[in-house]
Amino acid sequence: MKIFIGDLAHSTIILTNNHTPINIGFIAAYVKSILKDKVDIKLYKNPHKLLDDIKKDPPDILGLSNYIWCQSVSEDVFQFYKKVKEDGITVWGGPNFPVNELHKAKQYLVDRQYVDFYIPFEGETPFLNITKAVLEFGNDAKKLKSIHQNCFDGSFFISENNELIGNNIGVKIKDINSIPSPYLEGWLDSFLKQGFHPMLETRRGCPFRCSYCHTGLSYYNQGRSFSLDSIKKEIEHIVKTVSNPKKTRLEIADSNFGMWPQDLEFGKWLNTITERTGFPLNIGSSTGKGRVDLVLDTVMSHPKLRLTNSVQSLDENVLKAVNRINLPLDQLKYSQAEIDKKGKISNPEIILSLPKETRESHLSTLTKLINIGSNLICQYTLMLLPGTELYTDESREKYKYVAKYRLIPTQFGEYEGKRCFEVEEVSVGTKDLSFEEYLEMRTLFFLTSNIYSNNTYKPLINYLIYLGEDVIDFFYCLLQRRKEFGDGFPNKVIEDFINDTKGELFDSKEDLVAYYSDDSNYKDLLSGKKGINLSHTYKSVVFCNAREWGNFVTEIFREYLLEKHPNSNDVIKIGNSVISHIKAQADCQYKFFQDRKNIPTKENPIKAELDFDIPNILANRIDKVKYPSFKEEKVVYSYFMRDYAIKHITSFPEGQKRVDLALIILRMDTSYSFPIYLKEENMQEAVIAKQPV
Ligand code: SF4
Repeated sequence: MKIFIGDLAHSTIILTNNHTPINIGFIAAYVKSILKDKVDIKLYKNPHKLLDDIKKDPPDILGLSNYIWCQSVSEDVFQFYKKVKEDGITVWGGPNFPVNELHKAKQYLVDRQYVDFYIPFEGETPFLNITKAVLEFGNDAKKLKSIHQNCFDGSFFISENNELIGNNIGVKIKDINSIPSPYLEGWLDSFLKQGFHPMLETRRGCPFRCSYCHTGLSYYNQGRSFSLDSIKKEIEHIVKTVSNPKKTRLEIADSNFGMWPQDLEFGKWLNTITERTGFPLNIGSSTGKGRVDLVLDTVMSHPKLRLTNSVQSLDENVLKAVNRINLPLDQLKYSQAEIDKKGKISNPEIILSLPKETRESHLSTLTKLINIGSNLICQYTLMLLPGTELYTDESREKYKYVAKYRLIPTQFGEYEGKRCFEVEEVSVGTKDLSFEEYLEMRTLFFLTSNIYSNNTYKPLINYLIYLGEDVIDFFYCLLQRRKEFGDGFPNKVIEDFINDTKGELFDSKEDLVAYYSDDSNYKDLLSGKKGINLSHTYKSVVFCNAREWGNFVTEIFREYLLEKHPNSNDVIKIGNSVISHIKAQADCQYKFFQDRKNIPTKENPIKAELDFDIPNILANRIDKVKYPSFKEEKVVYSYFMRDYAIKHITSFPEGQKRVDLALIILRMDTSYSFPIYLKEENMQEAVIAKQPV
């Protein structure tokens, strides 16, 4: 029997989900291990390829995954398949389904008659049950659903009497290690060879119960780990199979990596592989919200592991409302201090518009994270995900979300002549946060992202904190003063960001689809004028205009210091050195992106004379107790871009859109987008690493 299983990804602009489809790999490996030659299974990521193969020789069963980023394309592919093969069996599975509200679950399937079975949780056992039933009783879906209802443990379906049937939903495999590895069985080799980055699952489940997250459902509460031996073999297989291990990223899918002793052992072992092979380029993972020392040890065990330290909010009322448990503040501080010592960075996330979040509580969370010394702060808008507690009618009634719809960045395409768009529902306000406040917090985040989380401005932030100033207050000062710049870059870029933040929202999914289906609006999607990730795109815009942005921030900074410290010449003098240091870096970045004939090199750097050794003194947070004054000394610094970064950027055509180029470069190691700076006297001996390992 022929089976196609897809975990579809759009690639209209860029490949939107470039990880190996480990989810469907597990299902294929498990079903094949039991049914052996009775089944012939093929896996797909590319919707065009899948449609072509369906046309040529349609399978008996078509299974697809369902996440918010592939719902629409999967719906279209299912409908196409049913037209080609009326008696084909369709199986959909994944978290994007209102599993915890049965009236909605039923409607979801009634509205999609082309879906025969829906698997809301782990897919291995339910998919096997369906395949076995089809093998045994044939592929008459109606008959299967009426006579053999008991064969489908773990799946929902609509019966002939229009009832929602779901037996033993959430059925689990007893021993997770009885699922063969999709890597070791070769199911993912072709994807690795095509350049997909490996996704690894070392553990399923999460001990926490956050109510905005699928994994917070009780089903996932009990975790199970894959054996370390098997995980190691998977990595060895990946390294052998990919074309360039050094340029391959590793994504760890676990929800709390580092919280289990096995993770530490794995981190240490992976480090030996990295030393030997250079794999991976970097590691994506979400680190644990408990067992702080174990998580820290794990993060330290490998140079490419980062501490996420995500909090979503630090307000007690909000955390209670969403059932979230964070590390206590003192432990967050402690873990930040520990990673600072090792030169690592944290990447905490916060969610805007959570229940009970107010403007003040959100600002307070941001301030606390800044005070802890968090490195790269990310702010997300609350997504209302089907199947989560926050999606339910009860929560909507309780918190009065201002629900809107937006296109998931670049997730669209045209298949068999039909345009298709992936849409997410977001909350841009609640009864405790107005839409205007939402916009204000998004705008503030623009500054957090482009100043606080931008390494160039680290000394400026560290100096403000040293002086006891409030960073958020400084950001508000920038927001107020931007208007003085009229048509200039700083005002315009913030204005554009606000307009795009408003403009990406629609009142309904239907409105959005109608709007983007129009030819001229669709062209805007294709050209990247619309439908982009605003945070990433605007970050790139700021990098491309680093000089103008630097002038704006430092000019207001100087005046801010004058206003706050009118009687201190020293403060202003130190501030001037901070400004010179920032401007030299910003100039390097500007030339790097906009003026490739004059990119500063080690041989021809930009120089800045400073009255204080700012790069050294303000590299980290310092306080007045340990550092009552700054030693005045003239130092000359040279600023330049690394050779490999210049080689990389100049390998792209001169005519390439600068913002697109910056988007590409910013995805690389930070050494590609930030200059190096060295004291004049160290220039001769300096050996600049050829390439980051
Ligand atoms: S800790 Fe993370 S994975 Fe677990 S429920 Fe909360 S948000 Fe979801």
